[in-house]
Amino acid sequence: MLFDQISLLLALGFCAGALGVTLLGAWYASRSDIFLLYLGVGVMLLVIGIAVFSNYAEHYSAERHMVAFVMLILGFSAIWGSARRFMGRRSVLRFTLVVATLGTFSAAPFFIAGFDGLGAIIANLLCMAFQIGTAYEFWRGRREAPVPMLGVGALYLVNATSFGLCALALMLEGDMVLAGAPSNRAEDLNALISIFSMSGIGALSLALNQTRLARRHRDESLTDALTGLLNRRALFQRHEGVLESGTVVLICDLDLFKAVNDRFGHAAGDVVLMEFAETARACLANAKDAVSARLGGEEFAFVYNADNTPQAVKIAERVREAAAAQTVQAGEHIIRFTISAGLAIAKDGERFETVLDRADAALYSAKRSGRNQVSLGTLHLVA
Ligand code: GH3
Ligand code: MG
Ligand code: MG
Repeated sequence: MLFDQISLLLALGFCAGALGVTLLGAWYASRSDIFLLYLGVGVMLLVIGIAVFSNYAEHYSAERHMVAFVMLILGFSAIWGSARRFMGRRSVLRFTLVVATLGTFSAAPFFIAGFDGLGAIIANLLCMAFQIGTAYEFWRGRREAPVPMLGVGALYLVNATSFGLCALALMLEGDMVLAGAPSNRAEDLNALISIFSMSGIGALSLALNQTRLARRHRDESLTDALTGLLNRRALFQRHEGVLESGTVVLICDLDLFKAVNDRFGHAAGDVVLMEFAETARACLANAKDAVSARLGGEEFAFVYNADNTPQAVKIAERVREAAAAQTVQAGEHIIRFTISAGLAIAKDGERFETVLDRADAALYSAKRSGRNQVSLGTLHLVA
């Protein structure tokens, strides 16, 4: 072996210690990312375990061996909890505490009874199992960011395997009671693999968190906070350039909405906007390639595909009728409202902005003609 086991453990301890500090620092800077706290604490517990391992060779005792392994069991429990938290699972604290307690009580009694060989086999197998559980969480999340998720999962699996090999080596040696610290090729390999996998896991976990944060910010910047629909910017971004011929653009504007605010209050007006957004989205659920957005204020835009003009108008009418039939409860008030809508259908080579302008002109024609109606260019459908 190129390095002795103590050097390897020291290297691993420094590497894991630096990683733990980085993770806890990252959590401190962004405290809502609790998974970083679990991961940081988990890695720090591993560091304590590694520190005990690296000095117990000279003063070996079954108790020291146990303390080192209990730290690893607690550490890998917290790391598993961290992965579950990252994947959005609930009751992570309870899960972590249960796993940590079960793990500790499955291995510790053997060390206390003096069967440190058997205890070490069980503890290695537990460390392996917890890391397989952790890897499974990243496998579940593979759709979000395939390469880093599968990368982290694979590193946990490799590390898990190295713990499995340590258990296997002890089983093959067959000593249930050890005379000293286990020292074999599997132990050296385990330390070496841990150095590489821990560094990789740390870097990839932080990268994954950054990617997720960036995506969250981007989604927020493209979503209307009140209704959850796309905002104006997102709508224009989605329809840059020329529209496919036949694409329908529908603009809906709540009628006399200022009066709703004046009479029932701005908060009640907000509830009306939210509920209309939900209703319209439901009406368009079966429309082809439907996109729903809030243009601003009480004005909404919907883009969809229809087989022909009557079908396009039918969908718009469905939205108008559903709004007119809707009652909104805001405090003790029951609010009814109507919408006016303008509809335009893209011709060959037309840009989104042009079709939107035509829909807007049609909307004003619907307003001028008495509201609560859908208007399509020159075609005017009175409700
Ligand atoms: P019209 O039928 O001609 O569209 O009349 P209107 O009253 O709906 O139109 P107007 O443009 O005069 O008023 C729109 C109102 O929408 C005024 C504004 O206070 C209200 N509004 C805009 N954004 C919001 C919002 O986010 N929440 C609430 N509650 N009201 C809003
Ligand atoms: Mg209005
Ligand atoms: Mg308006």
